[in-house]
Amino acid sequence: MMLKRTINTPGFACFECQTGVMKVKFVTYFTWIETQLITVPDFPAWVCDVCGNSVYDQKAVNVITTLLNPSTGRPAHTQKVKPGSNMDTNSVQTVENQN
Ligand SMILES: [Zn+2]
Repeated sequence: MMLKRTINTPGFACFECQTGVMKVKFVTYFTWIETQLITVPDFPAWVCDVCGNSVYDQKAVNVITTLLNPSTGRPAHTQKVKPGSNMDTNSVQTVENQN
């Protein structure tokens, strides 16, 4: 079996099957943030043309995890709660008489 070598395709040998070539394809990226499923369409991934093994493009993953990180763009700040501050207000009045 001849190994096809294409020069202008920036692919690399598949590390799963060692036969196929990993090529960039655009897939949908799935990730979970706590209980929320986040999907990113047209996400670059490397897909093997033989066994179909796919890995997300690491650079793009880095970008997306930075974007999705809830602490991104927020200054490091810890909120201090004063001991003894009246936190439990057990008389919450939200019901209004609307007739
Ligand atoms: Zn493969």
